[in-house]
Formats: sequence, C-alpha cells, structure tokens
Amino acid sequence: MYSKITLQKGKEISVQRLHPWLFSGAIKLKEGFITEGSIVEVFGSNGQYLCTGLYGSGSIAVRVISYEQVKIDTAFWVNKIAKAWEYRQNLGILNSHTNCCRLFFAEGDGVPGLVLDYYDGHVIFQAHNIGVYQLKADIVVALQHVLGTALKSIFDKSADTLGKHAKEKSVNGFLLGQSGSVAVTENDVKFEVDFVNGQKTGFFLDQRVNREILMKYAKGRKVLNTFSYTGGFSIYAAKAGAMLVHSVDVSASAIDICNQNAELNHLTNHQAFVADTFDFLKDKQGQYDCIILDPPAFTKSRDTRHQAIIGYKRLNAMAMKMIQPGGILFTFSCSGVVDKFLFYNTIAAAAMESGRDVKILEYLNQPPDHPVTPYFPEGEYLKGMILYIR
Ligand code: SAH
Repeated sequence: MYSKITLQKGKEISVQRLHPWLFSGAIKLKEGFITEGSIVEVFGSNGQYLCTGLYGSGSIAVRVISYEQVKIDTAFWVNKIAKAWEYRQNLGILNSHTNCCRLFFAEGDGVPGLVLDYYDGHVIFQAHNIGVYQLKADIVVALQHVLGTALKSIFDKSADTLGKHAKEKSVNGFLLGQSGSVAVTENDVKFEVDFVNGQKTGFFLDQRVNREILMKYAKGRKVLNTFSYTGGFSIYAAKAGAMLVHSVDVSASAIDICNQNAELNHLTNHQAFVADTFDFLKDKQGQYDCIILDPPAFTKSRDTRHQAIIGYKRLNAMAMKMIQPGGILFTFSCSGVVDKFLFYNTIAAAAMESGRDVKILEYLNQPPDHPVTPYFPEGEYLKGMILYIR
C-alpha cells in the first residue's frame, strides 16, 4: 500500500522506545517511489512492521505518525485530533474563562510537524514539514468532524514553516470560512489576535499558565515587560493591581496591538514602547521592581548555541543589575536546544556577574496544551525561573 523502508539490524530500538524520529543512518533499504513527504511504512531487519511515518530527505528520514499498520485517511486524522481535543477537554483547559489553546502540539500529540492553535473556534493550521502539509485536506475534514459547530474557520499559516527541503511553496490563506482578527479570552483577560499578520500563529499560547502565576507577584509593583509582543504578561500584571506596567518590543505592529489590548481590558496604568530591550534597559536603573524577560529563541541550532548562551547571560545580568532591591524577575528561554539545566546554569552565571543576592522562587515550564512525553524529551522547549533579587 505505502512505500517501504527497512532498517539496519539493531536500529529498531529507537522506534521500540517510541521515539518519533528515525535518522537516515538507520535505513538499510528503500522500496517504492519515495519523495519528500511520502507516507512510508517502516520494517525491522527481520521484516516485522514497526511504524508508519512521513519521509524527509534531511537527517531525520522518517517522522513517525503511527505505530499501527493503518491507512492514513480521514478516519486516521479524526482519531488523532479527537484524542488531542479530548485530552484538553479532560484537563478543562477550555472553560468559561479561557476560549483559546493549542489544540495539537506536534510530537507531543503524535504527529511531528502538525500544529493546530484554537482561537475561540478559529483554528490555525501550521505544517512544519511537507508530509503534513500534503495531507491538509484530510486534516480539514477531520477538524470539521471533531469540532462540529464549534469550528468557525481554518487558516493555513505554513508559508514560513515548511522547512528547507520543501520544494512546494505554500501561500497562507483560509482553508475554511473567513475571519479578520479575533478577540479571545484567556483567564478572563481579553486579547486581540491577528493570526493573519501576527508572529507565529498570532499569539503566544504557551505562556498562559506563567502569565497567571505573574498575577501572584505583580500587585503594587512597577512592572517592566520586555519582549512583550502584544502585551500578554503586561495585561495580566495590570489586572492584578500593578502600580504601573511598561511594555517594550521592537515590533511596532506588536506594540499597536498591545495598546489595543490595554484598551480592551480598560487599563489606565499601562504604557508601551517600541524599542530594543537591550537599549531600553541601559538607563532605567532602579525604576522597576518586577521585570519579565521572554525573548525570542536566541538559537534554533546547536551550532549557534554558545552565542545564544552569551546572549541570555548578558540580558539577565543587565536586568538583575538594574532591578530594585526586593525585585521579582521572571526569566524565560524558548530555545529547544538550550535545555533547562543549561538555562539554569546560565542564570547562575548571570547572577554571579550581577553581584546581587539572588534566590530562586519557582521553576516554570510549558503548559499542558503543549504536552511533553517521556518518549520525546526534546519536546520540552520552554523553561523559566522566578527570581527574588535583593
Ligand atoms: N512574552 C510574549 C511573547 C514574546 S515573543 C507574550 O507573552 O506574548 C518575543 C518578542 O520579542 C517578539 O514580539 C519580538 O518582536 C520581540 N523582540 C525580538 N527581539 C527584540 C529586541 N531586541 N528587543 C525587544 N523586542 C524584541
């Protein structure tokens, strides 16, 4: 039915451990017409079926989507998406306070490269490999089946994410229905999400839980939210009773929406600045007693990891030096290749350089709608710390 890949003897172990990637060096034989994105069935050296996956010509040769020898049809996608939806329903992630979340998180939900974000019935489809992209028609049908009348539109935002091996060009656009930007509610806080023009899928859903945690600390404080994007942390801090909140981002369009979000939530103690965080921090000594550092991934590859570490250390040392005594620092890294222990060590180095007395209050991570599995620890990318700085 599908093209066939046979592994070298001894290379079956990674599939048996349920790791969703197979590297090209593990392959002994390819049979059938296999191109970038083809569905392939993988067999062990003894001829036993192991898994079904999507072929790629890079170092990851197969991305596993099933450990059962089934047809990859609409029913397959209905099953996958229904499982992901049910998981989030069981955890109560969508409720009367929150109507947005990540609906499908790639390997964490069993399909490498498939991301679906849910914004109050509007779904953003984002494929990170051509295999998933080629199957989008079935995924659309499955979404209609699983979400039923809750589904309002589906927007494909894969133009920049298909990867360097993709020959096919993708144009962003609606696969179902139509919509302008939508206003969503997250923990009773309102946000305007412009998924067509905004970064990633329009909003950083992965900070929902950490934003809520900020509410415990922000009351009465002078809060600086750097790398604010559309003001996620800022609006929560202001709602929690911060004395004042300042947002900083280099992107003028993000700051526009940030101001709209402040208005949408009736804030009066918020101000936003279009600026580079490193410049902004330079002359603000002692002006804030709560700072959030949530920079973009400083690296996506191991080759540039060292430079990224230098960047994280410099940024954190700057913030530690200028925060008021008794201040609270929320600091994050979303670089997958910087694991949490490397990040914690980097923060230790920054603390030493700052000369301040630093205590660790809490460790933070990604929320359950961005699930990490025991089989794929690489799926853990977001880590953070809350620090007390004397
Ligand atoms: N904390 C945000 C998400 C941050 S994403 C939230 O909760 O929604 C990272 C942001 O950093 C992006 O908006 C990007 O425009 C911004 N950015 C990147 N480099 C920057 C820099 N040097 N100074 C300020 N902002 C920067």
